[in-house]
Amino acid sequence: MARMEAAVFAGLFRAFDLLPERPLRNRDLELPSVERGARLCDAFEMYRSLVPDSTMSMEQAILILTESVPGGDLLALRCTECGRAMVMERYGTPRKVCGSCFDDAIHRTAHGLTSTSERAGMGTSPPASLR
Ligand SMILES: [Zn+2]
Repeated sequence: MARMEAAVFAGLFRAFDLLPERPLRNRDLELPSVERGARLCDAFEMYRSLVPDSTMSMEQAILILTESVPGGDLLALRCTECGRAMVMERYGTPRKVCGSCFDDAIHRTAHGLTSTSERAGMGTSPPASLR
């Protein structure tokens, strides 16, 4: 399953109120509920309509959710550059930007532009429709 697919799915967590506010003492016992299960199904339906050719299964969706709760192994974050949802391993190499902004940054560096302000100043920011 592509990281991008996980990120799209994680982007729905907030809209469907799937993540608890506080860390759970025992997420295996405290996370599951009938209400959250119903919202998870709705989120998964929405995800499948957004990414119709996704191969992500409901089991993988549950795993992503379970590992994204506070204290889990995944972090569901927003890219500090473009605001898109992204998923990363909690104890992996920390990143503040998504894969696509990271690639952009490498591209900019290769062309002598190193910061967002320089990029904005030169009007080379991609149009909003491409983000
Ligand atoms: Zn980004």
